[in-house]
Amino acid sequence: MAKKTIADVDVKGKRVLMRVDFNVPQDDKGNITDDNRIVKALPSIQHVINNGGKLILMSHLGRPEGKDRAADARYTIKPAADRLSQLLGKPVKFASEAVGPVAEKAVAELKDGDVLMLENVRFYEAEQIKDKKAKDDPSLKAKKEEFAKQLAAFGDIYVNDAFGTCHRDNASMLTVPQQMAGKPKVVGFLVEKELQYLGEALNNPKRPFVAILGGKKVSDKIGVIEALLGKCDTVLIGGAMQYTFMLAQGKKVGGSLVEPDKVDEAKRLLQLGGSKLKLPVDVTTAAKLEAGVATQVAEGDIPDGMQGFDIGPKTVAEYKKIIAGAKTVAWNGPMGVFEVPPFDKGTNEIAQALVEATRNGAITVIGGGDSASAIEKAGLSDKVSHVSTGGGASLEFMEGKPFKAVEVLDDK
Ligand code: AMP
Repeated sequence: MAKKTIADVDVKGKRVLMRVDFNVPQDDKGNITDDNRIVKALPSIQHVINNGGKLILMSHLGRPEGKDRAADARYTIKPAADRLSQLLGKPVKFASEAVGPVAEKAVAELKDGDVLMLENVRFYEAEQIKDKKAKDDPSLKAKKEEFAKQLAAFGDIYVNDAFGTCHRDNASMLTVPQQMAGKPKVVGFLVEKELQYLGEALNNPKRPFVAILGGKKVSDKIGVIEALLGKCDTVLIGGAMQYTFMLAQGKKVGGSLVEPDKVDEAKRLLQLGGSKLKLPVDVTTAAKLEAGVATQVAEGDIPDGMQGFDIGPKTVAEYKKIIAGAKTVAWNGPMGVFEVPPFDKGTNEIAQALVEATRNGAITVIGGGDSASAIEKAGLSDKVSHVSTGGGASLEFMEGKPFKAVEVLDDK
């Protein structure tokens, strides 16, 4: 069922506690190198400001341990608060603690239309205690709930606009809304869009529905391949995981990256998929991974001493034809080592094929992570229907796993 959004509640004069995903990449000096995640949250943020709410933002950044504040200091979320302030053209207050007296005072001082950013929620160990662990350990459960209760007390309304973390049961994602019984709990505009595109593509696809899966490991994608075989008309495989499938077919793969312990799983998927599951017919190989290195195309076996780093030209042509005939396309994972040219060719060609399919009326959805980076690198992200902000989250969504952090929110 569709979830209520921030547009369905009156925020005027209310304290709006919003979980965002400001987990932005930074350089060694802490400078933000890509503010896309902050930009994507702007519509929800501006909506609250423009409608006179008191906005309290919480997010994680990086992977601090949550035990030693001095060791975690480089993960402060202050730079994200400063960047948000620049983007909004207005001050963003910052609380150097996410809970406790400092945060409480900052929240109490908020006026209508103000914005406050709380310090990184992962500075607190309780944030990432898994419910599975907490179930068997009352002290962990109490610790997580106590932390969540303090955050929950800051809000009259809870908003989840952090799609990239929706597959997790972190305190700020799940325990906080659980603690806010009787108060409105809604999704922000970003999560609404993610659920709409990913949900519609998967549950109500216009056909033919084609999925393209690449990336490094079969092991990461067994669940999603299986789920998509049940929903799609064709599943196209690329990336390093194709070599484990080649092993399963009895082919030689030279020195290519494989997961020998997943060959049986690959055999099972090949059987399950039949003609729906398509593997590359050729592979671009090289003796080593180096920019500009001499390449050879292998059809069938990959010779000893060579490694596959990309899908080959015949595969590109075949996959492009299939994509051109599709009405819905979902893509997750690069076709080759797109970071090292010329092995970016397959990925770039597939990105281009998605752009053309979009132009011809297809719905095209790109799962986050590396395929999102690849399409951004190619400057094509605004030419497809939707680029997800969630890597792991979009994969788990495609796999059909329930998102408790979304389920807990109010239905329309
Ligand atoms: P994943 O995180 O599973 O989506 O995998 C993404 C990574 O897979 C990227 O960093 C690619 O460089 C890598 N990758 C894709 N194709 C290959 C390949 N043929 N050999 C080695 N690495 C690959």
